[in-house]
Amino acid sequence: MTDLTDELDAGTVFRWLTAAAASVEREADVLTELDSAIGDADHGSNLHRGFSAVVTALGKESPGTPGAVLVLSGRQLVSSVGGASGPLYGTLLRRTGKALGEAERVTGGQLAEALRVGVDAVAQLGGAAREDKTMLDALYPAVEALAAAGPDPYGAARTAADDGAQATIPMLARKGRASYLGERSIGHKDPGAASSALLITALAEVVVADE
Ligand code: ADP
Ligand code: MG
Repeated sequence: MTDLTDELDAGTVFRWLTAAAASVEREADVLTELDSAIGDADHGSNLHRGFSAVVTALGKESPGTPGAVLVLSGRQLVSSVGGASGPLYGTLLRRTGKALGEAERVTGGQLAEALRVGVDAVAQLGGAAREDKTMLDALYPAVEALAAAGPDPYGAARTAADDGAQATIPMLARKGRASYLGERSIGHKDPGAASSALLITALAEVVVADE
């Protein structure tokens, strides 16, 4: 089983984001359905557009380090997605990538630390905290589970992200469009938390497949 001393290179991160793009495409209708309950029914199409741009850009430029793959991908998300999620996911990937620096290979431990920097940057950009019913409710538990470095850190991160997304159902939205609904936002899963769980699942699957 993969532990956090195992290294990732640009190819691993490329496969992670490509797998995330495939998963977003597969689940686009589900994400849009979630957004139709508490938003404006565009989360699936927003992310599908954004991650398609990521895959195209990575295919053209093939950056040589994990950090550069993430920074390029983040830029694509910012520039191709009109909704709130574009700048937020773009910031996550860009800031995670910057935190990794220029190393050709990074350990899982370094990725965990960098993701933490990226998630903090999302919180700062959006002014959101935990339990505001946003993507942060999947991302924070995921990076914490990864950093805890247990026997199956990537599997634990995936479970934590899924559980975190599920836990948004009873929450009252305090940020983003869903917050306009007040009490009526209760009882629905947050679309951004659901897509964040897809992103973390893609990481877990790719890292294990690379072993
Ligand atoms: P929009 O809300 O502009 O239509 P999307 O539908 O693509 O954008 O994305 C909505 C998701 O973005 C929400 O489900 C939530 O997870 C996330 N989100 C919105 N605002 C914030 C914020 N201020 N901080 C963190 N996440 C946010
Ligand atoms: Mg929306």
